[in-house]
Amino acid sequence: MASLIPCPHCGVRPKEEFSIRGDASPIRPAPSAGDDAWYNYVYVRDNPRGRVIEHWHHSAGCRRWLVVERDNAASHEVYRVVDAADHAREVAP
Ligand SMILES: [Zn+2]
Repeated sequence: MASLIPCPHCGVRPKEEFSIRGDASPIRPAPSAGDDAWYNYVYVRDNPRGRVIEHWHHSAGCRRWLVVERDNAASHEVYRVVDAADHAREVAP
């Protein structure tokens, strides 16, 4: 069975239309943050198993960046998909 991603702009689409960038959980540090904060933001990643949030690009559709919350282990269930701009507003301090 094909994995389907419900794009908030285009509707339900097959995952082959998307490119995955990676983990969407790191929060961008303030411009004045120290080198350690920027190093951790750019290079340090966990590799969790289970429920994750990731940046996906709808490269064969609306070309918007999305934040996809899904299970990366057994079920591959997609729990939530939002536009990355909306996600950034949700997590902004
Ligand atoms: Zn789309």
